[in-house]
Amino acid sequence: MLKNDLLDQWDRDHFFHPSTHLAQHARGESPNRIITGGKGVHIEDRDGNRLLDAFAGLYCVNVGYGRTEIAEAIAAQAKELAYYHAYVGHGTEASVTLAKMVLERAPKHMSKVYFGLGGSDANETNVKLVWYYNNILGRPEKKKIISRWRGYHGSGLVTGSLTGLKLFHDKFDLPLDRILHTEAPYYFRRPDLAMSEADFVAHCVAALEAMIDREGADTIAAFIGEPVLGTGGIVPPPAGYWAAIQAVLDRHDILLIADEVVTGFGRLGSMFGSDHYGMTPDIITIAKGLTSAYAPLSGSIFSAKVWAVLERGTDENGPIGHGWTYSAHPIGAAAGVANLKLIDSLSLVKNAGETGAYLNAAMKSALGEHARVGDVRGEGMLCAVEFVEDRETRRFFDPARKIGPAVAAALLKRGVIARAMPQGDILGFAPPLCLTRAEVDEVVGKTADAVAEVLG
Ligand code: PLP
Repeated sequence: MLKNDLLDQWDRDHFFHPSTHLAQHARGESPNRIITGGKGVHIEDRDGNRLLDAFAGLYCVNVGYGRTEIAEAIAAQAKELAYYHAYVGHGTEASVTLAKMVLERAPKHMSKVYFGLGGSDANETNVKLVWYYNNILGRPEKKKIISRWRGYHGSGLVTGSLTGLKLFHDKFDLPLDRILHTEAPYYFRRPDLAMSEADFVAHCVAALEAMIDREGADTIAAFIGEPVLGTGGIVPPPAGYWAAIQAVLDRHDILLIADEVVTGFGRLGSMFGSDHYGMTPDIITIAKGLTSAYAPLSGSIFSAKVWAVLERGTDENGPIGHGWTYSAHPIGAAAGVANLKLIDSLSLVKNAGETGAYLNAAMKSALGEHARVGDVRGEGMLCAVEFVEDRETRRFFDPARKIGPAVAAALLKRGVIARAMPQGDILGFAPPLCLTRAEVDEVVGKTADAVAEVLG
């Protein structure tokens, strides 16, 4: 079937692609690519190109491509029992085992995991259950959720509202009310270049405090944030940010939702970003790395404190009115079990920390002094290069010049996939956690060549 010469035409004629310029695609003005295989950190397309995927799909194929252990677990589950639901206390060996494995890896104060399908629906679950939580506690006004500009939490109605990127709001009548956005912890884009990191953390905290004062703490239910901003630009927080934010939230009895869809299961070199930054979230969102995307599965992990209120809610009101047909799908769960075992047996969390540090150091040394590079930053297996027209004044390029996409295209020509992040001229890297040092050298060398081609 993949040899079918009509695939390109069928694609242009019938396929509504996510996050794509629909008109250009349909008219055949933008490239398409049909992927046929993958092994380790490489994918192959129908035209025989072998590409090093330094973005692990959408930062999700954490164990790398072509892991037969996971494929076999999926096949075995499909043969034995492809589906049964998880409503009214049903489960499968895979879903129950995975719940236990997730909790064994999560921060100690976490208590239960609800399984969904993707990061967006998991965050949808989180917001809905936070509202339920406050209704059970007799606080019907305490419902607003604070997110950050440049946060990414999905593209549904509530989750697209939580997302703090223009592209996901404009023309969609988002954000919905009850969703607020505060300062992103983006030190490179601090409002005043003279600010130290500590000054900037104080600035973020003051902005949050001002918002809470303005809205009233008794109207604010939760704060959601990724330990490291992902799609908003791959931005690790400045030192001390999470401790300072958490102190404000605790003081106002506002729950913390750590969206670990990207950082969960090792990407930062720690099992969870919450451990990495000393956060004590009330809810953790997981997806991507839970199955390394071998099958769709997400989760919402609830702390013992939140869980106690949810239990009380069902004692008072009956079964929880929440569930998807595919919650805890056995095939996703089987993939998750096999994936978490592989992460352990291949020591991928350790490799993410060590090889990720090597990647970040190598990228900094190759590009840190380039006249058109304003910032090279990252943590673990996350790295970003941000381009500027003028380093001294931090003058950004006119977005119409599309410098980020041009560098990504020049790199692709050299056989390496990185992602031009959607807001700003930022080239993002989030490779599989099994990346080797030799592969880092290839990625960094080719990135330097691509930057030289586009920016001199
Ligand atoms: N949360 C974060 C931090 C993400 O990066 C993403 C997707 O990239 C999501 C949520 C949404 O996940 P999904 O695309 O699986 O709905």
